[in-house]
Amino acid sequence: MKADLLKWASHANPLTLKALTLVPSYRVYREMYALLRQSRWWSREELAAYQARALSCLLDHAYENVPYYHRVFEERGLVPGDIQTPGDLALLPFLTKEIVQANLADLKARNYPEAAFEYVRTSGSTGTPMGFYYERGVSRAKEWAFMKTQWDRVGYCFGDRCVILRGHVVDTASSGTYWRRALFGRWLIMSSHQMTEETLPAYIDRIRKFRPRFIHAYPSTAVILARYMREHGIEPFPTVKAVLCGSENLYPWQRSLLAEAFGCRVFSWYGNSEQTVLAGECEESTHYHIFPEYSIVELIGRDGLPVEGPGAMGEVVATNLTNFVCPLIRYRTMDVAVATEKQCPCGRQYPLLEKVEGRLQEFIVTRSGHLISVTPINYESGAFENIRQFQMYQEEMGELIMKVVRKPTYTEEDTQQLTRELRWQLGDEVNVHVRFVDEIPRTRGGKFRYLIQKLPISIGDL
Ligand SMILES: [Zn+2]
Repeated sequence: MKADLLKWASHANPLTLKALTLVPSYRVYREMYALLRQSRWWSREELAAYQARALSCLLDHAYENVPYYHRVFEERGLVPGDIQTPGDLALLPFLTKEIVQANLADLKARNYPEAAFEYVRTSGSTGTPMGFYYERGVSRAKEWAFMKTQWDRVGYCFGDRCVILRGHVVDTASSGTYWRRALFGRWLIMSSHQMTEETLPAYIDRIRKFRPRFIHAYPSTAVILARYMREHGIEPFPTVKAVLCGSENLYPWQRSLLAEAFGCRVFSWYGNSEQTVLAGECEESTHYHIFPEYSIVELIGRDGLPVEGPGAMGEVVATNLTNFVCPLIRYRTMDVAVATEKQCPCGRQYPLLEKVEGRLQEFIVTRSGHLISVTPINYESGAFENIRQFQMYQEEMGELIMKVVRKPTYTEEDTQQLTRELRWQLGDEVNVHVRFVDEIPRTRGGKFRYLIQKLPISIGDL
C-alpha cells in the first residue's frame, strides 16, 4: 500500500499533475482505477493516512498557487501546516456557490496553462447557477474510474449493453425518433421527454429487443416506465441485472417501485458535478459509502459545527481531493444527509451515509419555520392512484400547492384523500391546496422536481 500512497502523493503534486494534462485521459483513468481497486480494502488507518497526505498536498498547492486561498490563509494568520487532519479544516471558512461566482478568476491555479481549464456550469436547480473548472482530460477520467469502481459492485462491465433513461432529448418532439444508439452500439439512449401513454409500448418493445444488462436512469424517468409496466401487468426485462440510479435523490417509494417493476437490484449513488462528494451503495447494503480518496466530507449543523449523534441531519460540506486547477475546499453542497457509525458487512472501511435527504431546497417549510423532508412521503399510497403526475410548490411558509395531472378516473374523492394523506404526513402546520394542471414541465436538464421551493432555506434552518 505504501508504494501506492507514494505514487499518488506524487500525482497530487501540482507539477506532476500539470504534466498529466498532456497525456491521454485513458492513462489517468487506468491509474486511478488501479488505485481504487486496492484502496477499497484499506484499513481506516491507511485511508486516514492517504487522506491526510492528499489534503496536505492540496493545501500546500492552494496556498502557493491559488490567489483566493492564499488570501484566506493570510487573513486568518494561517499556513497550510496548521491543518494536519480533516478535523483541522474547521479553521478554514465555508465556500458557498456565491463565493465561487464572485471569486472564480482567483480560484484558478496560476501554475496551470489556460488549456488545462475546462469550464463547467451546474444546472442551477437550487436557483444559484454556478460555473467552475475541471482539469481538461483529467477530471472526467478520474470520475469515470470512481464510477466504474462503484458499478463493479453490481457486476457492470464496459462492454455491457445499457439503456440510458436520463434527461436526454434525442430529437425534436415531432420527429417520432425516441432513441439512438451510442458507444459503438452498446448504449441505447432513450428520450425522457417523449415518454407518454401512447409511446411507452414502443419504448418497452425496443428495450426488450435490445436485451440490456443495465438500465442507467434518473429515478424520476425510470419511475414513469416502471409505473406503466406495473399498471399494464408487463413482465420485467429478463436480461436486466440492475438499475443504476444517480443524479437525483432516490426516494424509498421509488426504490421499491423500480425493484418491483424491473425485478432486479436498484443501485444508487450520490454525487455532484462539482465533484466534491461521491458515495454509493455496495453489494451488501443501501447505505452510501463515501469515497475517502475522492473528497473529505463533513456534515454541518445549524451552528456551523459538525452534527453529532445517530440520526443527526447535517448539510454536506466537502473538500475535493482530486481537482487542483480549481480547488473547492469546504464547499457547501446545499444537500442534507444523515451519517451512521455502523460498519458495513461488505468490509469496506469507508465513512457511511445512512441516507441522503436531498437538497435543502427540497424541504417543506411549516408555518412556524420548521423543515419537513419530503423523503418519507409515500407517493405509492392509494391517495396517488388516480394521479398521473404531480408537483409540490411552495412560496409561503405553511402553505403548499399540490399541482396535479389527473387520470380520467380521478374524482373529488381523490382530492379529499390526497389532502388527508398529506396532512397526515406533514402535520397541522402546513395547509395543502390542490390545483389541477395539464402537464408538469421538466427542468432544462431533463430532471423532474417533486418540489419547487421558492422560500430561501439555509444551513441555519436545519
Ligand atoms: Zn458496504
